[in-house]
Amino acid sequence: MEPNLRSPEAWFQLLVAVIEDYAIYMLDPDGIVVTWNRGAEQIKGYVGAEVVGQHFSLFYTAEDQARDHPGFELEQARIHGHFVEEGWRVRKDGSTFWARVTLTSLRDASGELIGYGKVTHDLTDRRDAADELEASEQRMRMLIEGSSDGFLLRDHKNRRLLYANQTICRITGKTVEELSVGRPALEAFVEPADFDRFDSKLNDPGPWELEVRSRPNPEVRVMRIRSIDLSDEGHGWSALVIEDITERQRRERALVDSEERFTQLLGALTDAFVVLDVEPLAVLYCSPNVVKVLGTTSAGLLGGQFRDSIHPDDLDTVVAAWKGATAAGYELEFRIIRPDASVAWIRLRRWPMRIEDGRATRFGSVYEDITERKFAAAELSAARLAAERANAAKNDFLSRMSHELRTPLNAVLGFAQLMRSDGLSDLQSEAIDHILRSGDHLLNLINDILDISRIENGRLELSTEPVAVEDVVSEAVRLVGSLAVSAQVSVAAYSDTWPTVLADRQRLRQVLLNLLTNAVKYNQRGGRVDVRSWLVAGDGDDDAVVIAVTDTGIGIDEANVPRLFQPFERLGDRTADIEGVGVGLALSKQLVLAMGGELLVESVVGQGSTFTVRLPAGTPHSLGPSEVVDDPHVAVGHGPTDRHGELVVLSIEDNASNRRLLQRMVDRRPQWRLVQASTGAEGLARLADSAPHLVLLDLHLPDQGGAELLAAVRANPAQARLPVVILSADATPAQITRLLAAGATDYLTKPFDVPTVLAVLDRVAAEQ
Ligand code: ADP
Repeated sequence: MEPNLRSPEAWFQLLVAVIEDYAIYMLDPDGIVVTWNRGAEQIKGYVGAEVVGQHFSLFYTAEDQARDHPGFELEQARIHGHFVEEGWRVRKDGSTFWARVTLTSLRDASGELIGYGKVTHDLTDRRDAADELEASEQRMRMLIEGSSDGFLLRDHKNRRLLYANQTICRITGKTVEELSVGRPALEAFVEPADFDRFDSKLNDPGPWELEVRSRPNPEVRVMRIRSIDLSDEGHGWSALVIEDITERQRRERALVDSEERFTQLLGALTDAFVVLDVEPLAVLYCSPNVVKVLGTTSAGLLGGQFRDSIHPDDLDTVVAAWKGATAAGYELEFRIIRPDASVAWIRLRRWPMRIEDGRATRFGSVYEDITERKFAAAELSAARLAAERANAAKNDFLSRMSHELRTPLNAVLGFAQLMRSDGLSDLQSEAIDHILRSGDHLLNLINDILDISRIENGRLELSTEPVAVEDVVSEAVRLVGSLAVSAQVSVAAYSDTWPTVLADRQRLRQVLLNLLTNAVKYNQRGGRVDVRSWLVAGDGDDDAVVIAVTDTGIGIDEANVPRLFQPFERLGDRTADIEGVGVGLALSKQLVLAMGGELLVESVVGQGSTFTVRLPAGTPHSLGPSEVVDDPHVAVGHGPTDRHGELVVLSIEDNASNRRLLQRMVDRRPQWRLVQASTGAEGLARLADSAPHLVLLDLHLPDQGGAELLAAVRANPAQARLPVVILSADATPAQITRLLAAGATDYLTKPFDVPTVLAVLDRVAAEQ
């Protein structure tokens, strides 16, 4: 139907028809679509013909249809004349859109309902934008709440707090309400010294940035405050972002410090330090010392200058090590030739700093100039060699001394002992006693000095074993007995339970004898010497044995104690009348130390002294309470003298005096006949033709060693059981052990005791 353009209805209809932004359509009273415009086609996607005659619930979602929302709308419009709502509607293609819907009831002049006019506007875009805004606000709020920075939105014009996140409450230690009070809260938050600076900024919306100190708890923390201006025409808003940068500053400072220290350290080191990347080959770090140590710069390290300086003989090794470098790193010593043509030794240590797929891709390297050390080492080994030679010469000298001094002493003491029993006049006896005492003294002195030198050379041989303290103490007490009797000093030893000590028996006896002799010598008439011993329990293996020698003598001034153990130190005039040379304590201390113990002294002048030997304990040894008292009697063996049948003793000895001495000794045992030989060869001949019952063998013979001769004797089955007693001035324990192991029957050291040699003759005679 052609519209009649002259009527206002016609104009209206035309207008409705062409409006595209709105879907406008008419419904009959039952909700059937009667007409609709182009906008409806646009918005809903249907062509007019498809819709006219259909119920308008076609445009509703399944849920709205199910709850008869279209019916509800019609009813509302019918009752109220008008109904407006926003809601989801459905297009022809099934997609939904957000619609603003206006439904108006249409009535004729009589008020009869003739239908409805409906206008629908697609607001999807607007709704999406609103959703988006809300979502983005939500996100922003979450971000701000979750941020580790404090966030404060304020109206800077009115100085009013609009919003504060949780973090700022944590940082300031204030609640949102407290912060709302404004200035006082902030005043309490910022350090007074910084507050004015902060306050002067508060009227300024920003942007600005400020660092202030704050003291939310006793510790001072540093806050960075930034202001961001959010003002627009309507508001004077700004945001304060407060960041606690204490830790960051601390870390930054620590990093700077550590870098500084690292640089200083590398500068202070004499070594050069280099970090290299393998692929591509690059120097990442090169300490300043590279120039000094390698004579090249960082550029020269890879540029060939360094390579050219490597000694031609070492170049292959250096290159091969670099090429074969594994994740294990390597060490290398090589030479470089410096610009002044001098040769320097470099020690390179290279280790992986980064490993990728099992391959080292970055190496750290330290180059050390070891030239001086190398030369010093060479000099040192030459010096050591010279010292070793000198030492060997010294030891050789000591061993000779020992022999050379003891051999003549042997004759002196031996003859004197023989003469004493030869019915001499009183005067002669007295002279002989003098000779014997001085000789003994000289012999002890030689032994002590040799011992001290041996200890100093580390050549003292000790045979450490568990030793019953009681035995050694009683021996020492017995040996000091006659001295004690003549000095009128009583000596006694006690222990509740005598312990067992780990020591060299002979050396321990020597030490104790020394201490006892001193305790008697430096005592007074009627004085006492007490020896006590006990076990000091340690943890497990650390048990110790203490042997204490206490006297009631003259005592030692505390100031003199440090000098006490020095050789030849006698502590002045007070001991001038007392026999001694001042080596006993020095030697005793060294011996105790060598046995793994210590020797200590406590003393009060005029009252007496206690010398304490402390040594490792041996296996437990319990003997029960006991007491040892002095016994000056020294037993000397006396053998049978009434035997018939001649016995032959062969002496192989080169020293004439000793040979005569032996002759005189053998003369005292009539059943023995002495056959003498002065060389090894002669000795062998006499062995064959004299059929001896006993051989006395000196070790130092002009033509051969006594040890070889002994071997020859033992090799002969006929003489395998022949007693061979070694008489030698060489008293080193190693020597004694060796010869006993090689088959010697006994080993007597010169100068020998006449009774001891006679006892050997008697013993062999008894066995025949
Ligand atoms: P010597 O007894 O031969 O002089 P020592 O080395 O045994 O040598 O002793 C060194 C010095 O220590 C002695 O000269 C003496 O002055 C002092 N001395 C040692 N033991 C005692 C002691 N028990 N009481 C007082 N003085 C002592």
